[in-house]
Amino acid sequence: MVSRVIPVQPFDLVIFGATGDLARRKILPGLYRRMVAGQMPEDARVIGAARSNLTLKAFRTMIGEALETYIGKDKLDEEVRSKFLSILDYVTIDATGTSGWSELGKKLEKTSDHTRAFYLSVGPSLFGPIAARLQSTGIATSSSRIVVEKPLGHDLESARALNKQLSESFDETQIYRIDHYLGKETVQNLMAVRFANTLFEPLWNARHVDHVQITVSESIGVAGRGGYYDKSGAMRDMVQNHLMQLLCLTAMEPPARFDADRVRDEKLKVIRSLETVDIEDTVRGQYRAGPDGPSYVEDAENPDSRTESYVALKVEISNWRWTGTPFYLRTGKRLRAQLSEIAVVFKEPPHSIFPKLPAHQTNALIIRLQPDEGITLRMTIKEPGPGGMRLADVPLDMTFADALGPAAESMPDAYERLIMDVIRGDQTLFMRGDEVEAAWEWTDRILDDWSEKSEKPVAYDAGGSGPEDALGLMHRDGRRWRSIEI
Ligand code: NAP
Repeated sequence: MVSRVIPVQPFDLVIFGATGDLARRKILPGLYRRMVAGQMPEDARVIGAARSNLTLKAFRTMIGEALETYIGKDKLDEEVRSKFLSILDYVTIDATGTSGWSELGKKLEKTSDHTRAFYLSVGPSLFGPIAARLQSTGIATSSSRIVVEKPLGHDLESARALNKQLSESFDETQIYRIDHYLGKETVQNLMAVRFANTLFEPLWNARHVDHVQITVSESIGVAGRGGYYDKSGAMRDMVQNHLMQLLCLTAMEPPARFDADRVRDEKLKVIRSLETVDIEDTVRGQYRAGPDGPSYVEDAENPDSRTESYVALKVEISNWRWTGTPFYLRTGKRLRAQLSEIAVVFKEPPHSIFPKLPAHQTNALIIRLQPDEGITLRMTIKEPGPGGMRLADVPLDMTFADALGPAAESMPDAYERLIMDVIRGDQTLFMRGDEVEAAWEWTDRILDDWSEKSEKPVAYDAGGSGPEDALGLMHRDGRRWRSIEI
């Protein structure tokens, strides 16, 4: 299979926070890879902005080093690398001050016909001030785009305030809220599998689906960013955004058309159909110390911490399609493996004419986000060979890397794809303000219940599958989590 690369229109991308971790690790290496792939137009420009007083030469050196670190020195194409560095510019700006803005304005004036995008790779407290300044200085035009990323608030109230600040300077059609999970190939493939085939959609409902499991498991802990994480926790950091988005795409009705607002309307309807989660259907955990590192409370440097590094939930969706089919969500740090997947587990056949398999598994469609993005359909077939009618469970595997062959190498990662979508003006894979607020409204109810109960999260072993109580959440319904293994 050959993937087609269509260059985007000429653009100027201003990255506020261009000297920071996100810009150096993801955004700029992503743009470099798009240049290698031939998707960057000849006259694209990337302007870094931050408080550090850097010369252009020093900024280009910094980004050259970042490419070496995050892409690998031996994997860099020297010619593309120097071309990429040559399109970089830099301006010293304090987002909360007045200097630097006119210099930025002048730089952009030269290419006023270019699509203009502003990526705010800075803390959320700067979103409002930067948006306002871009508007008041006339640097942002009515066709400019602004890109922001989590954390988009820490509760409904702060999310509303953030949306309000942005909407005072930019129209909703100009605001691109990134959830990088939506940029993953598999996530978009989930929509293709559901809506471009006749096979699954008739089965995609409570009559045929027993339950859905959504797992985002991380093997690393919070060391190094424990202070930040301790104010957030797994519910705010992962469930409110990433897991919620995966749940929406799995559960939503087919949109009338594949366009931004139709898709986002359907996702919003799912969030609004979520039942309030009973506290008994939630599990919170904190990892213990293990051979590979200290415990959560040590990493967070807070011995009394009540913040969860693991959460599991049983979620019910009250609508015609899903009533009676629970969605189990879990995410945590310091678990056995780095793995993200959605498993749609189908019901048993109503009647079996065959002897039951000793450890039979029902059909399941597994959508794997990492590692090895791909989709697997678990089927039961006859075990090949003589010896009567013995049945076996087999996976029908479609790993995208295998399907695409060498083209998989140049497949854009989530950030690359999303940045190109910003330039193209396609908001389908970005969250709308009302979606973010609805997700917070639902999340807040769970957080409020927890804080009222004020219990310490249960401890779980580092390198394992999470707390025993999370296993119990499934067992009491006669179900089991899929194992966290790669
Ligand atoms: P970081 O490493 O601390 O970088 C922050 C950047 O903002 C630096 O370039 C800093 O440069 C600049 N900055 C700070 N104050 C400024 C001001 N007043 N005016 C202009 N520039 C200013 O943070 P990060 O990890 O890159 O994260 C940036 C944002 O993305 C955060 O909100 C974070 O939560 C979010 N995020 C990060 C990741 C990630 O993987 N890192 C993932 C998802 C979301 P100067 O000090 O030179 O000004």
